[in-house]
Order: sequence, then structure tokens, then C-alpha cells
Amino acid sequence: MRYRNFIELIFVAGIVFSSGFFFCKDSPYQPEPPEDGVREVIILYTNDEHGWMEPTSTHGGAAGMMGLWKQREGYSADGPYLILSGGDMWTGPAISTWTAGESMVQVMNAMGYSAAAIGNHEFDFKVDGLNRNLSLSQFPYLSANIKTKSTGEIPEFAEPYLIKQVNDVNVGIIGLTTVTTPTSTFPDNVQDYDFIDYAEALEQVVPRVKADGAELIVVAAHICSWEMKALAAKAKSLGVSMIGGGHCTDTININDSGVALVHSGRNMQHYARVQIQYDTVGDTLISISQQLVENKGGTADAEIASIVAYWRDQVDATLSEVIGFTENGIGSRSWAMYNMVTDSWLISYPAAQISCTNAGGIRQSIPSGEITLETIVSVLPFENSIVELELTGSQLMDVVSRLIFGGMTSVGGYRLTDGTPLDPSQTYRVLTIDYLYSRPDYNFQNYDETPYYTSIHYRQPVIDWIKSLNTSPENPLDQYLDNNPR
Ligand SMILES: [Zn+2]
Repeated sequence: MRYRNFIELIFVAGIVFSSGFFFCKDSPYQPEPPEDGVREVIILYTNDEHGWMEPTSTHGGAAGMMGLWKQREGYSADGPYLILSGGDMWTGPAISTWTAGESMVQVMNAMGYSAAAIGNHEFDFKVDGLNRNLSLSQFPYLSANIKTKSTGEIPEFAEPYLIKQVNDVNVGIIGLTTVTTPTSTFPDNVQDYDFIDYAEALEQVVPRVKADGAELIVVAAHICSWEMKALAAKAKSLGVSMIGGGHCTDTININDSGVALVHSGRNMQHYARVQIQYDTVGDTLISISQQLVENKGGTADAEIASIVAYWRDQVDATLSEVIGFTENGIGSRSWAMYNMVTDSWLISYPAAQISCTNAGGIRQSIPSGEITLETIVSVLPFENSIVELELTGSQLMDVVSRLIFGGMTSVGGYRLTDGTPLDPSQTYRVLTIDYLYSRPDYNFQNYDETPYYTSIHYRQPVIDWIKSLNTSPENPLDQYLDNNPR
């Protein structure tokens, strides 16, 4: 058979190509043609993005996730898709943290998010920072359970809910914020607000959402999996069909009491996909199913990748900033270095009494002369974050013999900096890094099953401390260092 002309060849090639695409294992999701009144809504849900827009050695970052959404889910902006976040969007790697979240806001705008729950870490840059990011966002921040103490009203930066029409279905999206917020961000930043019980908040807001015309109701909640399970039956009785979670680092993907519960872990490593069939004539939910998808294998989306590359350039430019001066330099295996690193954590996070980490996390010496941000990045190059644990004195003594530490010494027996001997039965608030916490050989996971992830990068306190001293050739860093063995 010969093709009569070039146009026909292109046409046939197009059919062959698209047929092949259909049968390909990774072919995108194709919605069913609608029956009368039956509409499909696909919710793509992430939480605890924490600014992880760049790809890592294991996961695709924001551009890779957008690629998956397009390739695997068939995502298009005018399709039956609703993109939601469970909050804690910004604090994490320098590319986001050093812009106070602005870079991540831009990425999430481009990814088409419709709304985000307010997480505890949305207060990390104070309410002013939250408002600044809100003004840059093309989507609202939701919370129905934050109340201004002085008025009892939901504060201006929060919308209790949003109603969005997706494929002819009016979807009511309600936000919730963890009640632990006053202890899981800097308390001063939220002293004006109460964080009320989730069920109570839903009881107050769901009737308003229904009165406003919502047919399908979902909740984007910055709350842990166990809290989601505890809330499921109440949510079902109020007419909620799905709860997306946040805050804790596990993943969840179940139907409990007739409500789809999803929690996508953190750091853009997974997204949840919730598929809903809704009968708009009979006003009934026909089906709902949920799935977790790992952010691997997506072809980086060009638009998102270019935004991330822009911010990478900005961050690289700031790394040449001079932050201090040392006359003699600081050796990577010196007490001055060990003590500086561990003490700086306690200065940045004074709620803890003791800090400990592995000397292996310190990779280079600081050469004599000017100290730049890049120097510190090279000294402490890993993407480690500080976690806070509660350990007894005896548990501490078990682990710290292999570590460097601040807030205590082992010289002449374990004792705190003020000389008080470490009490084996007393509980202490201890900082270490998420990397060591995850290592079974350090036993941290056995000692404290519920660590608090501060989201503070392990090098940031060192940078902050050096900067605060305003060092120079006349006022070198050397004179502030503690060279005493611990
Ligand atoms: Zn959180």
C-alpha cells in the first residue's frame, strides 16, 4: 500500500502513534465518557512539600511530579482535576527556605494548585511571611479551625473553605490545621490564635459549605494519620467524602468509615490520587477510590524545571555572600568545629537541652580568611534536618559515646554544661539529625517513636551564629570558639 500524499501519511502515522500510546504500559489515564449526569473528579494531593522542588537521587521533585501528572494522569488544566496541598509547603532546603517560601509558591502556582491547608510551618516566617506568600499565591490557604483569640473569628489569612466547580461538580474543600501548631512552630508566631478541635470545626463549617452549594465535600487537613482515622466517622456523618492529611511523615491510603483517607508522606516523594464518580442528577457519590503514587519516572516538565532552575541560580548567587572571618581556620576534626556546630543548634533552638550528631556529617575544614555561605555548605553539605527527641539520661549515655555533643560534657562523668550530673531516669529534650534518627544502629527510633521534625537544616544555625558575631580581621571568629574537649 502506498500513501497518496504526505497529509495522509501524517494522518495514518498519528493514528498508529496514538494507538501505540494507548497500549503502552504507562499510557495516561483516560476518563470514561460521561453517562447522563455522572461526572468524574480526580484529586491529586500532596502534603508537607517542604520546599523539595528539586529532584533528588531517588525522587523527581516538582518537575518530575508534574511530568507524572501529565503522562500518567492525563492532567490538563481544563480537565476534571483538582490539585490540593495538605500544608507545610515552604520550610526545607535552602532553595525554598532562603526565599522564605517564595520560590515554592511560584512552583505550586505553575503546578495548578487550587488550595492548600495551612500547616504549622506556614507560620515559620511569622504571620507577615504567611501573608506575603498568600499575596503571591494564585490559590487560597484554608483552615476552619484557627480562631483569633481576641475575636473568636477565623483570621483574615485563612479561608475556612473554598467551593470550586470541577467537571460540573461543585466541590467544597475545607481546611484544617494541626492543634499542635503552638508547639510545632515558634510559639510566638501563633500566640494570637487558638487551634480548635477538628470535629467541632467541621460541625461549624460543613452546613455553611452545603448552604453555599457544595455537592461533594473534601477536607485538606494538616493532621496526622491517627487523627484522620479518629475523625473519619464524624466526617462521614457530616457528608465528607475524603480527608487528605499532613504533618506526620507516614503515608496512608485507606477507606475508613466510608471516607477516603490519604496522606502522601513528605518532600514531594509521593502524591495521592483520589478518583470520584459523582451523579450530579441524583446528587449522590457513586464511587470513590484512592491510590498513592511514588514520584519516580516522570519526565521533568519543562515549565516547572525552568522555574526551579531560576531559583537554583538565585540561591547559588547568594552562596558567595561573605558571612565571617577566621584568622587561623577551623579543622574539620577539631573541638572548635564540633563545639561550634552542636552549640549553634542549641542557640537556635533553646527549648532543647542537649544536641548531638555524628562527626562524619562534617566534611571539610574552614580555611583561614573570609568565610562564605558556600564554605559552610561545603563543611555541612548534606540535606539533613534537625529533629527533637525526648530521651532519658540512660538512653543518652547509651548513644552519645559515638557522637559529638553540645549542652553537656563527658569529661569527669556525664554532666550538663552547668555541672549537674546527667540523671539516668530524667527525660531530656535532645536535638539530632533526621539521618541519624533513621539509622537503626543508633536506637533513636526505639527510644522516641514520635520525633518532632523541626525542618531546620543542620547547617542553618551555624550560619546564623557566625553572622551574628560580625567577625572581621580585627574581630576574628577564632576568639569566640570553644576549644575544650567534651
Ligand atoms: Zn506540620
